[in-house]
Amino acid sequence: MPNKRFVMSKPISSITDVPTLGVTKEDFIGDFKRYYVHSLGRDENFRSSPFYACEALSLSIRDRLMERWKTTYKTYNKRDSKRVFYLSMEFLMGRTLSNAMLNLGVIDEATQAMHDLGIEIEELIDRELDAGLGNGGLGRLAACFIDSCATLQLPVVGYGLRYEYGMFTQTLVNGEQIEKPDHWLRHGNVWEIERLEYSLRIKLGGHTEIQTDEQGNQRVCWISTHDVLAVPFDTPIPGYQNNTVNTLRLWKAVATEEFNLDEFNAGDYAESVASKVIAEHITMVLYPNDANENGKELRLRQQYFLASASLQDVLSLWVRQHGHEFDNFAEKSCFQLNDTHPSIAIAELMRLLMDMHGLSWAKAWGITRQTMAYTNHTLLPEALEKWSVKLMQRLLPRLMEIIFEINACFLSEVAAHWPGDKAILSRMSIIEEGAEQQVRMAYLAIVGSFSVNGVAQLHSQLLQQGLFRDFYALWPHKFNNKTNGVTPRRWLASCNPELAALITEAIGDGWITHLDELKKLEPFAEDAEFRHRWRVIKQNAKLRLIEHKKQYLDIHLNPDALFDIQVKRIHEYKRQILNVLHVIHLYDRIKRGDTINWVARCVLIGGKAAPGYVMAKRSIKLINNVALVINSDPDVDDKLALFFLPDYRVSGMEMICPAADLSEQISTAGKEASGTGNMKLMMNGALTIGTLDGANIEIREEVGDENFFLFGLTEEQIEARREHYDPIAIIDQDEDLQRVVNLLESGHFNQFEPGIFDDLIASIKSKHDPWMTVADFRSYIDAQKRVEAAYQDKDHWTRMSILNCANSGKFSTDRTINDYNRDIWKLEPVPVPVQYP
Ligand SMILES: *Cc1c(COP(=O)(O)O)cnc(C)c1O
Repeated sequence: MPNKRFVMSKPISSITDVPTLGVTKEDFIGDFKRYYVHSLGRDENFRSSPFYACEALSLSIRDRLMERWKTTYKTYNKRDSKRVFYLSMEFLMGRTLSNAMLNLGVIDEATQAMHDLGIEIEELIDRELDAGLGNGGLGRLAACFIDSCATLQLPVVGYGLRYEYGMFTQTLVNGEQIEKPDHWLRHGNVWEIERLEYSLRIKLGGHTEIQTDEQGNQRVCWISTHDVLAVPFDTPIPGYQNNTVNTLRLWKAVATEEFNLDEFNAGDYAESVASKVIAEHITMVLYPNDANENGKELRLRQQYFLASASLQDVLSLWVRQHGHEFDNFAEKSCFQLNDTHPSIAIAELMRLLMDMHGLSWAKAWGITRQTMAYTNHTLLPEALEKWSVKLMQRLLPRLMEIIFEINACFLSEVAAHWPGDKAILSRMSIIEEGAEQQVRMAYLAIVGSFSVNGVAQLHSQLLQQGLFRDFYALWPHKFNNKTNGVTPRRWLASCNPELAALITEAIGDGWITHLDELKKLEPFAEDAEFRHRWRVIKQNAKLRLIEHKKQYLDIHLNPDALFDIQVKRIHEYKRQILNVLHVIHLYDRIKRGDTINWVARCVLIGGKAAPGYVMAKRSIKLINNVALVINSDPDVDDKLALFFLPDYRVSGMEMICPAADLSEQISTAGKEASGTGNMKLMMNGALTIGTLDGANIEIREEVGDENFFLFGLTEEQIEARREHYDPIAIIDQDEDLQRVVNLLESGHFNQFEPGIFDDLIASIKSKHDPWMTVADFRSYIDAQKRVEAAYQDKDHWTRMSILNCANSGKFSTDRTINDYNRDIWKLEPVPVPVQYP
């Protein structure tokens, strides 16, 4: 292997003075200089290159993680701890540096050190590119989970893919989304360590044969395959000030040496190099789809690559530690599948245990069913993965055989439970019959695992009553709920240091690891001085956001205005359009002079649309066109502003949530599985305007109805209304809505682009609009009026803001992970001994 991969991790050999690993300001200054001058080869003008300064500081911080990392693993191995393997196609990590400093407890020392060298640490932090290896909520959940696992001292390994290109960068041209590739690794990545020594071979294609081994046992062999190497890259995941450093292991696809040897020897040099490139396509790019890219072969390759590499890795570690005895394996291991994406792991574990380790079907199935746990993330049926049997037979012939066998056993179980019921057999079969046979991967996941969970109470309940009803009837004990959360380290302590300091001054810093303690803030809501300080901090956050995004935001924006924020993927079910209808309604009121007791409002909307999702892209265009008209109308003045914030991502959210007054969570009831943006915003003192959907329901339960702006039909009402839904009649009966629709239809927002919003307008006027936007219009407008009335009383609003933060304790991923651990994983926390300066 060429050693160019070691470029970013070479320093040790080139330094003469050994790092102290101390954590004083002087230690950081010494190490920083050493890296900057010796390793990175820059001259001693430290301010000349923020990029190299960021590298030097990151390397200094990384050094402090290394010993802890190794000690953590030695401790787990010595104790032979049970482990959990979290399999996820996405880890939306964002930036690492400031989180690592927070968790190591060295922010002040490092900040001072940089300051003494004439560097503002903020500038360095802002240099780091986001690791955007995920689409949205699901990927960010995985990132928050591994932070909490390390903080709770649980032996959990994250397994994912090291995409060369992450989530695309979003730019706007003429108000339309343009995608740019995100080559996040172009300047290297100091946080990862390549572990070539643990590379593994992944099979694809070929066919199967039955062979007899030396003991006379028959074994299925999967042969004539085209293999690809999986090379692991490890990232340290530090717990919060506890010496634990867990691992995120991401796999990169690399061509095997002999993969192209035949072609090479045949003299076809170009072909052989080309096939190397094809092998390496597997981890080239993240699919930028929020729902699911159904049927794409490359996507199936990615899923299998993740599953096979991770399971082989786990099994080879097992064999190194326990030999070829698997009797205790299920006691000591658990796999958590983050959505249906990695569910091919169920068939792969069967294959590895039987074909590679010689276990019987019964033993292998027993182990699989005791170690696999499945988390479902969506109720949208179009997002449930299905793979054509033909494709599976071509790409993964051995796995297809195993799935057929699993299905046969499963269907006989079903037949025994419901004798004579033919319909239920075809409803529940893992194989969907039809013009083309398909594998229902979600069903495979349920059949092969011991736990199936949804991600908020309503979502779990709807899974049991709807999508997975038959399975719930068969195996009620498998089903459970684990309401999502977010890590309070990144989403409060780190992103909002001023608010964090005020909270700590009031109630101590226990909240950082025991978020329920925020409850102690409640009495401070009645303290005028505290409210004043709370308000000033919110104001400053707004000013910082305006300053940071001044490229996109009007710098004359009024920081007294209500900051009304909707940031999330652009999707019809999330109803950004409903938000726009309200903005147009406010604009219409201003134009009519209906402005007594007006509350100045700044509406910020941000989010990416899947590149192939026409309607979502059209809504981005609508937001931008409406913004252009409103923001340049002198009548509007500073009463109202609308902005689209381009390239919404983790680092963007860290800047946005401290500045939010109002959190828009306005999905059609029953469609948002949980939401986590709602939790980040609540934690930072935003009030929610929301439907009874996903975790909104639990947020309202925690904070109380008087501190939450509820509107809209319930899930049951939505489903009841659907049959006789008549949006035209609703529009006719509502003057405000009529005027809004007339403005849209008159082309007021697309004067020189005739017809571009026709589809959008038609979709909300359609009787078959699945998202029933128009049905919730009146109730949404009324709720927004209650928001304005509340905002006019600043003390009252601030009281509610404090109470929202004070009651956000439930939404820490520490709580979520403790729930997973209590009900599913059953791990013992493993303290890591302290042995550092
Ligand atoms: C939290 C987060 C999400 C999820 O937001 P929802 O409002 O729950 O859909 C998506 N993207 C990013 C970058 C996030 O930080």
